[in-house]
Amino acid sequence: MAHQPKYILALDQGTSSSRAILFDHDLNIVGISQEEFKQYYPNEGWVEHDATEIWDTQLKVAKQVIKENNIQLSDIASIGITNQRETTILWNADTGEPLYRAIVWQDRRTSSFCSKLKESEFGPIIQEKTGLIVDAYFSASKVKWILDHVEGARELANEGKVKFGTVDSWLMYKLSNGKSHFTDVTNASRTMIFNIAELQWDKDILQHLDIPESILPEVKCSTDNFGFAEIDGQSISIGGVAGDQQAALFGQICREKGATKITYGTGCFMMTNTGEQIVRSSNQLLSTIGWQLKGEKPVYAMEGSVFVGGAIIQWLRDGLNLISDSSESEALAQKVEDSGGIVFVPALTGLGAPHWDQYARGLIIGLTRDTNKYHIARAALESIALQVNDLITAIEKDLGEELPYIKADGGAIKNKLLVQMQADISNKSIVLPRILESTALGAACLAGLSVNFWTDIEEISEKWQADQTIEAKNTDAYINVKKLWNKAIERSKLWADMV
Ligand code: ADP
Repeated sequence: MAHQPKYILALDQGTSSSRAILFDHDLNIVGISQEEFKQYYPNEGWVEHDATEIWDTQLKVAKQVIKENNIQLSDIASIGITNQRETTILWNADTGEPLYRAIVWQDRRTSSFCSKLKESEFGPIIQEKTGLIVDAYFSASKVKWILDHVEGARELANEGKVKFGTVDSWLMYKLSNGKSHFTDVTNASRTMIFNIAELQWDKDILQHLDIPESILPEVKCSTDNFGFAEIDGQSISIGGVAGDQQAALFGQICREKGATKITYGTGCFMMTNTGEQIVRSSNQLLSTIGWQLKGEKPVYAMEGSVFVGGAIIQWLRDGLNLISDSSESEALAQKVEDSGGIVFVPALTGLGAPHWDQYARGLIIGLTRDTNKYHIARAALESIALQVNDLITAIEKDLGEELPYIKADGGAIKNKLLVQMQADISNKSIVLPRILESTALGAACLAGLSVNFWTDIEEISEKWQADQTIEAKNTDAYINVKKLWNKAIERSKLWADMV
């Protein structure tokens, strides 16, 4: 009998680390390897990564997880890639050398260019075509910046000797020894140059931004043949690719319309499946592509992000020294029954969806002589759930229906008080998965589907298991809190602008 590969290797290239995770046929994690890499902040608001270091760490952890688990390369059926989205790399097509460091999604250097673009008559056209609100987060203005500012870049591009890619494209290019120059529809949908209805690069936007078409990767479905990784003289297919939030949506098996996942990490990221339809938000959410399986129509999604989620707990630790570890926040908040009438708006870096106010700043309001540190810890946790609740309310308005449940993941869901608060504040059931690595699992599932490691999405759904479901039990306790929250949010807005 032919040798049957037993594993899928997921490469999870994140903003702070590169990880490699092996999954078996029952969706169990067999091994994880991880390595952090350096962040560069060369100027106020600038964030860069060394693209070569991204590649080196990713290859290193891939080899490490294989070695540590005594696995042969021939035991791996396929590789799935998931990655920090929007981060932009341009490289020399002849030498494979990056022209500049990777400009990270968080980088704000092109903010004023994007503000003007957004206000121009072309702003709404970009939004219509791409589903995105014009912003410096997305790749387009970063590509333009490199072409306009790096010496010789524009000339080289005009000679057809430059390749552009988001991190997935870069990794495929390196893994395949320069043979693959591809991306998938989900990553393409975050570049602000991709038409999400027509599923192709948009010629009008490219022309408007002076980005030559010759530098762009070919766009494929999320389950496709992306070429072969050549590792230690052996070839392994690259079969699945998706940006991190989309991979998590797939890894949480949010298959039906309205199915929603929320990731509670440093920030909080909500994504909702909207089926075959692009839903245009009236509440400042983004429309994007959730995934596209080979031979099928794309599944669209809506997205909303909160900038400061778990990060407010880091601030309790590092800014206030109230706790020495994030996990202590739960016990501290449990010492009081409620937040004592105070509200904490964690707008430390402005407010994301649905408020979108870059000038908002944090506040703690309603302090009295009875207020103590336990109330502050509790209000901080509530603030995470209240911000996410604003996202849920926005998406429900856009969809015109209630979300059936929420599937949660990310580091902060270890805090069971927070999960209960979310259930109560939003009056929703919160499903917690057995495998917390939803992002890597999603990439693995896509790769496995493309090589028939799993027959279809039904087979994966049957194997996927929830760990537990938290039900709402005390919704009344938050009626007043929600009223106070709405008042406090208004007071936090436009603060930095007024000084
Ligand atoms: P990221 O992928 O964004 O780096 P993680 O998913 O690893 O984030 O989650 C880390 C975040 O979760 C941190 O902001 C941390 O403060 C928060 N966090 C971790 N454990 C807890 C906890 N028990 N209670 C509240 N927040 C927590």
